[in-house]
Amino acid sequence: MVRKKAEVFQMDLSAFPLWKKRHPCRRIIDFDLELTARCNHRCRHCYIHLPAEDPRALGQELSLHEIKEIVSEATRLGALWCLLTGGEPLLRKDFPDIYLFCKERGLLVSVFTNATLISPEIVQLFQKYPPRDIEVTVYGVTERTYEKVTGQKGSFSAFQRGLNLLRQAGIRVRLKAMALRSNFQEMGEIARFCQERTKDFFRFDPFLRRRYDGDPNRNQEILAERLHPEEIVALERSDAVRFQILKRCFHPPSSPFQPSRMGRDLFRCGAGIQSFTVSYEGHFKLCSALVHPDCIYDLRRGNLFEAWNQFVPQVLGKQSDRIRYLQYCESCPLTDLCFWCPAHSYLENGRLDDPVDYFCQVAKARAQMLDWEEGIQIWEQRSRRNPISARRAAVPW
Ligand code: SF4
Ligand code: SF4
Repeated sequence: MVRKKAEVFQMDLSAFPLWKKRHPCRRIIDFDLELTARCNHRCRHCYIHLPAEDPRALGQELSLHEIKEIVSEATRLGALWCLLTGGEPLLRKDFPDIYLFCKERGLLVSVFTNATLISPEIVQLFQKYPPRDIEVTVYGVTERTYEKVTGQKGSFSAFQRGLNLLRQAGIRVRLKAMALRSNFQEMGEIARFCQERTKDFFRFDPFLRRRYDGDPNRNQEILAERLHPEEIVALERSDAVRFQILKRCFHPPSSPFQPSRMGRDLFRCGAGIQSFTVSYEGHFKLCSALVHPDCIYDLRRGNLFEAWNQFVPQVLGKQSDRIRYLQYCESCPLTDLCFWCPAHSYLENGRLDDPVDYFCQVAKARAQMLDWEEGIQIWEQRSRRNPISARRAAVPW
């Protein structure tokens, strides 16, 4: 039966036969290739950025040959969809070769780009071999705000030019935003700008990850860009679609709240179940943010088959006996509303199993927004018994 596009968008995921492929066994469906950490912007909140000509990054990047090997092995293992991201992936001169190779292998291909390097040649490539979609982040809708975030003079007009090229050519573009201190006042206009141009898709992300390389100065910039929990909640409430989804998809914990059935296991998300990420220097990760040294497999010393079949189960088997973890995150009534995961815990506190005070505050503010009174009471009783962190004073929000 042929369905109309609008009907397909309304369908539950479980209605798609592809869904059966996911459950219950681990099977690769999609993967991310971080082609480079280099970027022609220098966004204040960026967790990965290195300068466009950074020699160390250039020296470590996977070659075209290495990328082809990884893509070929991924498709042999069943991958259907690949995201090409960075840094700014279009900084790579061989981007068209990489893109075409992925298409030749039959993959759906998405690209994350800041759009400033979109050229007529790239547009032709996308017209001839259409991507699944191109996602562009909108940092501001005025030159002042956009360039305050990117730190790059002339970047706003380059972004507008690139975006116009893509849209005029009919390429499927999805627009999204990061919610930052530097663009907070403009978020309403940013949302309107994106919604007018991408009718079926707009999202903003209020969670700023710390740097993968741990750079302390850049981390300070990121922390300064983080919004206060009340500001995050105000944004979420002001976005009618997002607010409805939060209300529909997240329900108060049942009473009395029971510890998780996962026991001491650290990984409860989808990491390593149907997807993986490869960093620019060939590091296999269960997801982009999971950069703990024990959770990284070097593809230059091994292969994807081994990484997926032997390494991933080892990582997914990680557990914690730490009291702080067991008292808090493992059995937390607010966990569904929280940014917490082992990867983010490591980026924040250098451990895979540490509660993060900022995350608690955001989760609590969200719970208040959604009237989860009982969950908040349980969370507050625990906090009074044993305050999570003395670090709070060091967090600048
Ligand atoms: S455009 Fe993206 S990759 Fe480049 S610095 Fe900004 S956030 Fe990072
Ligand atoms: S709200 Fe706090 S205790 Fe609960 S999962 Fe998040 S970080 Fe852990």
